[in-house]
Amino acid sequence: MAEKKKVPIKQGLFHLPDSPGDQPYLIGSKCSHCGYVAFPKSWVCPSCMKDHTMEEISLSRRGKLDTFAVLRQAPSGFTAPYIIGYVILPEGTRIFTIITGTEIRDDALKRGQEVELVIDKLREDAQGNEIIGWKFKPV
Ligand SMILES: [Zn+2]
Repeated sequence: MAEKKKVPIKQGLFHLPDSPGDQPYLIGSKCSHCGYVAFPKSWVCPSCMKDHTMEEISLSRRGKLDTFAVLRQAPSGFTAPYIIGYVILPEGTRIFTIITGTEIRDDALKRGQEVELVIDKLREDAQGNEIIGWKFKPV
């Protein structure tokens, strides 16, 4: 039987630690003209619409939880219930994410609380490989 693999949900979205002490981070881009930060990285600035001004940056690993909701029905491959939400990073970027490391309750989290990036299994594909992506957990 083939060994199960960890497969990023998409290339270029995040950095996977490749040595002890290395930390994961999301890969975004920052506009050298207006300072706007985008995730996922973008080639044209979504704010000032200039081309060739976006430079790749590593985004902060911690941010503040904005809105969130408990989902009681899951798409195929996911297990309900789970929590989804938006995290606002210090760069001003809003990240759509699954929230992990907490009880699955409507009152388990507070808006504005600090959360931290983790790279984790999202689901398994038909071959049993782990599809990995980003989540945030309470600090
Ligand atoms: Zn710009």
